[in-house]
Amino acid sequence: MKKAELLFVPAPLVGHIVSMVELAKLLLDRDDRLSITVLVIKHPADPIANTVVQSVVSSDARIRHLNLPEMEPPPEEMAVKSPENCMGTYIKSYRSHAKHAIVNTVLSSDSGEAPALAGIVFDFFCSSMVDVANDLGVPAYLFYASGAGFLGAHLYYTIREILVGREYTLLDPDSVVSTFATPVPARVMPTVVFNDDGYRSFVEHGRKFRETKGMIVNTFAEMEPFAVKALESDPDLPPVYTVGPLLAPQKEHAGKEEIINWLSEQPPSSVVFLCFGSQGGFEAPQIHQIATALERSGRRFLWSIRRPCSLTSSERASDFTSFDTILPPGFAERTRNRGKVCGWAPQVEVLAHRATAAFVSHCGWNSTLESMWHGVPMVTWPIYAEQQTNAFQLVKELGLAVELRVDYRRTQDSENVVMAEEIEKAIQSVMEAENPVRKELKRWERRAGRR
Ligand code: UDP
Repeated sequence: MKKAELLFVPAPLVGHIVSMVELAKLLLDRDDRLSITVLVIKHPADPIANTVVQSVVSSDARIRHLNLPEMEPPPEEMAVKSPENCMGTYIKSYRSHAKHAIVNTVLSSDSGEAPALAGIVFDFFCSSMVDVANDLGVPAYLFYASGAGFLGAHLYYTIREILVGREYTLLDPDSVVSTFATPVPARVMPTVVFNDDGYRSFVEHGRKFRETKGMIVNTFAEMEPFAVKALESDPDLPPVYTVGPLLAPQKEHAGKEEIINWLSEQPPSSVVFLCFGSQGGFEAPQIHQIATALERSGRRFLWSIRRPCSLTSSERASDFTSFDTILPPGFAERTRNRGKVCGWAPQVEVLAHRATAAFVSHCGWNSTLESMWHGVPMVTWPIYAEQQTNAFQLVKELGLAVELRVDYRRTQDSENVVMAEEIEKAIQSVMEAENPVRKELKRWERRAGRR
């Protein structure tokens, strides 16, 4: 029986690698003629991400992984101007290492016949791997860790570049993007496209996507019917494969038992869960506003509080050593019977728990899929990456989330604080049984075969 090898090149980012490795497991379950090797590129600045990456790639004995040698990170100024451009440039510097590893390790076999290389599957930040695939004469496939809607926006940049030829400004008119039913305002485009370096790197990635033999997207047709149809019906694009939702519950997590036990003591559908992704942390003034909103709401809550990471990095936000210093005086005592704060949360398990009623989220794509899949309505509070676009799609197109903000973004501006009144209003709204979002979610669950 002839064996075929697939090579996976993930970006060293938690929200990207988990779903990509889930895809690898799914493929291996489907066909035992297949073998998969993951080329591991180290994050240049984030040791926590590197620990997670190592544990994710070692989580299934069937998946082989090869650690590529460490490269010099790009200069600091590049990360300051655009962390996304910096990540793409850093990964580009791995092209020759990747080719060397493929030729000399993956395709060389000491014992019998080496498998045929069937293709290279790369994360969007690793689009420079298309060059390696071309050099080796093998097909390249994009793995897109975000949704079909935003993939359409991403691809659209290459067209916009021809028409406009410069980065976005917030004053630009709404864009007609084929994967969105309504025009997309500039204010919900990701921060990366508002500076020249970031914009150019985005255009470059989008161009590379068009050179592939297929685009594998972590979504499903019932989730984004309009977007998936638009991509599938565009004759100028490579074929689209929807493989989502790729969900990965966390097997090992220090505080998991305590959190799940606490949830189990709460009534069904009573808890508001607040969590803002791997990089979403807030400064003290914002934390105080959230605390005030939760206190005034009278609702039960589970709140994952994290220390923000630098604006110019893609590092994970870190945990606080103590919440006492960051929360308003007496908050813990006053909410003791109905609230719990934690650091990193076992999010998938929390969303799957019957006590969880709503999710105040940064709208990262994994979080969005996890919430929808478990039938938990969201409140949108995007912070970084493509989350504004996701929030816009969830609120305006899909009607599956309550809008707190669709255009909030992380900035240096200390005035950029969402006030307690607004937060409380959104929480009360999403908790109402009659909220149209809850009804739409029920209809959607039936369409998606969830109920
Ligand atoms: N996550 C988690 N606990 C946390 C924060 C995040 O388990 O406290 C998980 C979450 O379930 C999701 C991933 O980390 O699978 C975050 O991915 P997403 O695309 O939502 O956001 P990103 O971190 O990439 O911005």
